[in-house]
Amino acid sequence: MKVHEIRADFPILEDVIYLDSASTSLTPEPVLEAVLDYYRAYKANVGRGVYRLAQMADQRYRDAHRKAAAFVWGVEGVTIFTRNTTESINIVARGLSWKRGDRIVTTLLEHHSNLLPWMRLKEMGVELEVMRPDREGRIDLADWEKAIAEGTRLVATTQLSNALGTVIPVKEIARICRERGAALLVDGAQSVPHMPVNVKDIDCDFLCFSGHKMLGPTGAGVLWMRKEEKNEKNEIEPLLVGGGMVEDVFDDEYEIKQGYEGFEAGTPDISAGIGLGAAVDYLTRAGVEEIHEHEMRLTRKLLVGLEKIAGIEIFGPGRDSSEARGGVVSFAVNGLLPHEVALMLDQAANISVRSGHHCCIPLMKHLGLKYGTVRASLYLYNTEDEIDKLLAALEQIARMG
Ligand code: PLP
Repeated sequence: MKVHEIRADFPILEDVIYLDSASTSLTPEPVLEAVLDYYRAYKANVGRGVYRLAQMADQRYRDAHRKAAAFVWGVEGVTIFTRNTTESINIVARGLSWKRGDRIVTTLLEHHSNLLPWMRLKEMGVELEVMRPDREGRIDLADWEKAIAEGTRLVATTQLSNALGTVIPVKEIARICRERGAALLVDGAQSVPHMPVNVKDIDCDFLCFSGHKMLGPTGAGVLWMRKEEKNEKNEIEPLLVGGGMVEDVFDDEYEIKQGYEGFEAGTPDISAGIGLGAAVDYLTRAGVEEIHEHEMRLTRKLLVGLEKIAGIEIFGPGRDSSEARGGVVSFAVNGLLPHEVALMLDQAANISVRSGHHCCIPLMKHLGLKYGTVRASLYLYNTEDEIDKLLAALEQIARMG
């Protein structure tokens, strides 16, 4: 992976040091071209027309599903395009048939998008157990074993914490789920863009992720699920019904199409879907393993540098646990609010980082971080030089704290 070649595809990087990819990634030129190409050269609706343009749009949109599925080794499942991870998780929460007393296990590490959809089900008599991680975001497997008791219907967990960078052992959790007859939903919003994720290897039932966090445009996310016939117990009722998703319609009944189309009623965000396909091509060309290694190298450098600055406290796994973390680094500067630090980095050094609770208010409360943290999150286009600049700016800022 040649970072300087990759950076040429992101002209915005000439103006800014972008360290907020966990929020949304930048989008490279080839992906933008794929989106524009759809509008310029073959704009037509999908799944409907027989004329050439419509066939072309349909083929590209279908190909994008195939690419997204292959990216997570999920071609044998059903890969639905949604708007984003939030919508994917809500489709599962709304689409499964729940009964009073069903149990859901999740964690306090979760992004609100993997917490609120389950909280809402409590109104229907569903029991929710929210497991508490330690200060580094870890939960012992023994605690998972205990929490996933008989009668657990679903376990919903992130694979990589967007607030602390902790990697959760989803494969081991899947094994416990299998033993106990529970389904497993993995929130892959932060893992799929940054490390190889293989649904077959994990053995999960649902995987949710967002195109805009993996070089794609906004407007296309993914819900992957096991193939219907293997997944009878966890069959999902489509969230929306209407045009484009029916095999046949009678006077007072309808028959839903097999595959992704049955879940995508109405005209989808076609260009975003095609853009997501192009983003997958881009990531595949760069190599997901290489991207992960590159990010881990930068993360180690950042952690080592932060440890040396007096007045900075790091949250999440330290540099010794590089195996079990991703390129998301949360920290605080003594005497300054996270938003103040982020504003100073922006104004003084043109560095974009996130600050606040990162849509993880319960986790921040659990860690006693009323104002949240400062978060630097890395991607394939970041460089060692940018990390040096961040550390130099933080050294100055920490002196003011
Ligand atoms: N889950 C995690 C772990 C995230 O980091 C995010 C976004 O930051 C989401 C879910 C929600 O993603 P989206 O806003 O694309 O729906």
